[in-house]
Amino acid sequence: MTHPLTLIEIQSQMDTCRLCLEASHDIFPRAIYAGSPDARMMVLGQAPGITEKEAGRPFNAGSGSRLFQWLAGAGIEEDWFRTTQYMTSITKCYPGRSKSGSGDRVPSKAEQQLCRPFLEGEIGLLNPELIMPVGRLAIEYFFPSKPALKDVIGTQMQLDGRWIVPLPHPSGASRWHQNEENRALIEKAVGLVRGHYGRIFGANPV
Ligand code: SF4
Repeated sequence: MTHPLTLIEIQSQMDTCRLCLEASHDIFPRAIYAGSPDARMMVLGQAPGITEKEAGRPFNAGSGSRLFQWLAGAGIEEDWFRTTQYMTSITKCYPGRSKSGSGDRVPSKAEQQLCRPFLEGEIGLLNPELIMPVGRLAIEYFFPSKPALKDVIGTQMQLDGRWIVPLPHPSGASRWHQNEENRALIEKAVGLVRGHYGRIFGANPV
């Protein structure tokens, strides 16, 4: 009888995974994720960008700064979150630049499918009480009907006993979060995160 995998075993498989390359998908094989096996909250992004690939940590640069500025409004401190909670993405390896040269390539459906068992394993083993999908691709993992961002940001959904609170992508290139009405939706989402943070950890972070 085979024993169920542990999170460390899944991470080790991700670290050595070459499935995309073997299927001729053009990615840079270095799985980017971070956090604690005891995490109770998870941030789920789309895929690492080039600075994440080089630094080896999720949401490393400007996107990370903006994301944690938002989360500061929920009382969440960046270093605490990075070390005690969990950050991962739909596909774990940097997909390279888009053909147009403006921004990074969105991982293809085939790449998402290849990487999906890793994400399912991470979620299954961590069993986080709150997941924050960040950006369209991560949101569509939980909302496959592909709703408009304005219809899901500021809302929450309960799924398999955990809460899902979507956030837009915090990239500086994104115009969505710069719009005043949309910023109000982000504040609403941050308020939801604040509520879950308090429920999970009490008024003060551990
Ligand atoms: S993106 Fe996922 S499936 Fe593709 S090589 Fe990286 S870890 Fe493997």
